[in-house]
Amino acid sequence: MADFLITGGTTYVPEDGLVGSSLFNVGDGLTYNDFIILPGFIDFAAEEVDLTSALTKKITLKAPLVASPMDTVTESEMAISVALCGGIGIIHHNCSPEYQATEVSKVKKYRHGFIRDPVVLTTQHTVGDVLEIKRKKGFCGIPITENGRMGGKLVGIVTSRDIDFLEKSTDIPLEHVMTKAGDLVTAPSGVTLQEANAILEKSKKGKLPIVNECGELVSLIARTDLKKSREYPFASMDPGRQLLVGAAVGTREGDKQRLQLLVQAGVDVVVLDSSQGNSIFQIDMIQYIKQHYPDLQVVGGNVVTAAQAKNLIDAGVDGLRVGMGSGSICITQEVMAVGRSQGTAVYKVAEYARRFGVPVIADGGIQSVGHIIKALSLGASTVMMGSMLAGTTESPGEYFFSDGVRLKKYRGMGSLEAMEKKDTKGAASSRYFHRESDKIKVAQGVSGAIQDRGSALRFLPYLQTGIRHGCQDIGARSLSHLRTFSNRAMMYSGELKFERRTPSAQMEGGVHGLYSYEKRLF
Ligand code: IMP
Repeated sequence: MADFLITGGTTYVPEDGLVGSSLFNVGDGLTYNDFIILPGFIDFAAEEVDLTSALTKKITLKAPLVASPMDTVTESEMAISVALCGGIGIIHHNCSPEYQATEVSKVKKYRHGFIRDPVVLTTQHTVGDVLEIKRKKGFCGIPITENGRMGGKLVGIVTSRDIDFLEKSTDIPLEHVMTKAGDLVTAPSGVTLQEANAILEKSKKGKLPIVNECGELVSLIARTDLKKSREYPFASMDPGRQLLVGAAVGTREGDKQRLQLLVQAGVDVVVLDSSQGNSIFQIDMIQYIKQHYPDLQVVGGNVVTAAQAKNLIDAGVDGLRVGMGSGSICITQEVMAVGRSQGTAVYKVAEYARRFGVPVIADGGIQSVGHIIKALSLGASTVMMGSMLAGTTESPGEYFFSDGVRLKKYRGMGSLEAMEKKDTKGAASSRYFHRESDKIKVAQGVSGAIQDRGSALRFLPYLQTGIRHGCQDIGARSLSHLRTFSNRAMMYSGELKFERRTPSAQMEGGVHGLYSYEKRLF
């Protein structure tokens, strides 16, 4: 007896795995680790997979990656790197409106290869100051200007060769060790990257200061940057070929003035930053923005249910941010008893929002490239990351060592530390609804540290390659094929299959049974 059925000459394949609706309609809250995606058929190379994704109704990215608006994750440096790699960074608003707008304009004015905001010192700074910068930032080619700032008259440069062997003479002023302006190779402002490259190659110097006709420093080019100098064919750009950037705002009256400065600085999208976005304040703000800045794209949130999403979609949002309580630094579910498991939240909101053509950002809880693939498979168009990017060179803050491990601070925007922030960057965040008059603040986040991950310019391409390989295993040639709004997409046609993972299946899916191992990812 044959133990399989033959129908019309084809081997019958029994139903296997669960479609999205069956997986998520049983009332349990599932996280990314609670399920796995079943493999499909491969008839294309991984490099061919197209990662083009919608951030909002009108903004499309070449990579589905978004840097979270947190003060230990995204300022201009991060936003530039993420945009160069095809994603977008959202500048945080735990700072004064002026500071935030300046960060936005740094991204909009960025010219690849030119450092517009280098560390600059005066002749009166000391060898010790340079050694300290080298220790914290890892470089020491520092221009010296009369006033110690960009725009000041260039009087010299200090490089590692100038301070070699001076570790014991830290109080020597830089005027005695620097290479003086007369002996410097510089380039005039307006020089192209190619011309600068040629000058650096010929001079064999590490840094090339760019000066205007008055000899004032306007930018700097580093040989190491040029050596890395790759093209960024997937960079996220506006029609004027400037990098795309977003910014977070709150929903208070004062945020309208912030918004105006951000728009003047050229922001492409604003994200209304609230842990519970289904509020009259947010609906009013969306309507205000649509009325006063009809061309500005607005992302609403955060939401985790279709009912929450409905109100924001009705108010006119161009994108939705999904997640409540899933962030790595987050204690919202513990303290507020409200939220949702991230896998379920993404599936439910995306399934609803697609009917209105509103893309969804899966925000929080991403710990690996596999989580990104799962979030996208559940219907998210992009993923927003905090902890994944917080340890990179481009995140704000300095590295420090603890027990021999190189770390950077990473904190929740609802941590007491972030809410009480009083520094040069100005006001504290309104994301967690605290008013100056509140006597007792209730923390919804923690403050911690995260391990060094190197540059985002290396880490993001690793994520993209990983996503492409995941899509290949699934059998999806593009992210649109995987999960666009249409019923033909693998996700909504029922072609994409999932399976629940028991706790032991999850253990089996991780490294196990080894005495020791090293986990190197790329
Ligand atoms: P991660 O990528 O898992 O680290 O999560 C980052 C996300 O956590 C952010 O994009 C925010 O949505 C969320 N988040 C940021 N700060 C806090 C907080 O203090 N409490 C709760 N959630 C937070």
